[in-house]
Amino acid sequence: MAEKFYRPTRMCISCREKFAQEELVRIKCMDAELSLFNGFGRSFYFCKICLSDEKKITKALMRQCKSNKKDELMNKLKEIVTNE
Ligand SMILES: [Zn+2]
Repeated sequence: MAEKFYRPTRMCISCREKFAQEELVRIKCMDAELSLFNGFGRSFYFCKICLSDEKKITKALMRQCKSNKKDELMNKLKEIVTNE
């Protein structure tokens, strides 16, 4: 196996495109509370293109968190992404 050609890819849950992991932001949502992935629990990815388009990710975010508190989720996500 030519290992150097192997780059793991992950899927953005919003656009469902595959990206190299470093192009994605890994988020987790536990009990409807968003945070950056901290090593355990279920996580998901957003690509940077989707992150710059609020309308695109709101639905996917609500689905992942099983929450309909759209504004709360979006504000928290922005905070996470800004502090990253
Ligand atoms: Zn995306």
